[in-house]
Amino acid sequence: MSAQPILLVGSVALDEIVTPFGEVRDAFGGSASYFALAARRFAPVRLVAVVGTDFPEDDLQLLRDEGVDTRGLEVVDGRCFRWGGRYGDDLNSRETLYTHLNVFEHFHPKVPQAYRDSPYVFLGNIHPSLQAEVLEQVRSPRLVALDTMNLWIETARTELLRVLRDVHLLVLNDQEARQLAGESNLVRAGRRLLDLGPRTIVVKKGEHGAALFSTGGEFALPALHLADVRDPTGAGDSFAGGLLGYLAASGETSGPALRRAIAYGSVLASFTVQDFGIARLRNVRPEEIAARFEELRLLTHLDAER
Ligand code: AMP
Repeated sequence: MSAQPILLVGSVALDEIVTPFGEVRDAFGGSASYFALAARRFAPVRLVAVVGTDFPEDDLQLLRDEGVDTRGLEVVDGRCFRWGGRYGDDLNSRETLYTHLNVFEHFHPKVPQAYRDSPYVFLGNIHPSLQAEVLEQVRSPRLVALDTMNLWIETARTELLRVLRDVHLLVLNDQEARQLAGESNLVRAGRRLLDLGPRTIVVKKGEHGAALFSTGGEFALPALHLADVRDPTGAGDSFAGGLLGYLAASGETSGPALRRAIAYGSVLASFTVQDFGIARLRNVRPEEIAARFEELRLLTHLDAER
């Protein structure tokens, strides 16, 4: 089966990132950018997003050069979405310095006709009512996945719960899972989230890997052992890109396929965190993805006692 296209909505941004290993300003980022660069290793990506006239043409060209379909990317008068984040010494804790929605404030996603039959949909991290507007414009997709964050769980919970009813796969981090479920035990939280609509929940746990809760069973995978981590920004979006990209390429949604998809998500995220912004992710070669998948497979291999 040939890889099926993924309709993607999310932020395309200019980021300021401060880590113990350095800092960058006006770096090409955004939830949709990381997702697109990871997912397009496996499947065609159709982007719906907005940027301001201050967004560098070179960065837009980069997306096109990477084969991302940008017919749904609007350029409007105003400043683009800007986000700043600072990481603590162990890179696990992140403080948001600012979130300037700018052109996102008045954005209403328009899904081009040519995208409306997309079989896979990824609703990247933006306001849940914008995620819902995208879903209203697509015709019976095969798989709808959604990512969100603490900001929307706190400020737009009702809208988030509404859109989740039409989502098959929810991807979120451990803190967000606890917050959304109102449950501090992560296993209980993951299982409780299944009551909200999605039949599959994938919880990202940063350097501790990822966990799957689904109506068909549960699974856990540690992260790759990385001795050089410089900037975790975009790890979650790259993870989601690898995961959904693999599912769209394989055409499968079985338990074993979901497990492999989680492994590919971890592999793509592992490249992202090894350099600032998209620097490492954009240069990843297929043989490097295959080698790291094998590394993860060996790292997690376990034989039963004979
Ligand atoms: P991650 O590290 O996976 O959480 O993703 C970081 C990316 O998400 C950055 O490139 C930001 O530009 C983007 N981002 C941060 N906050 C938001 C938000 N509230 N809405 C949309 N995108 C965001």
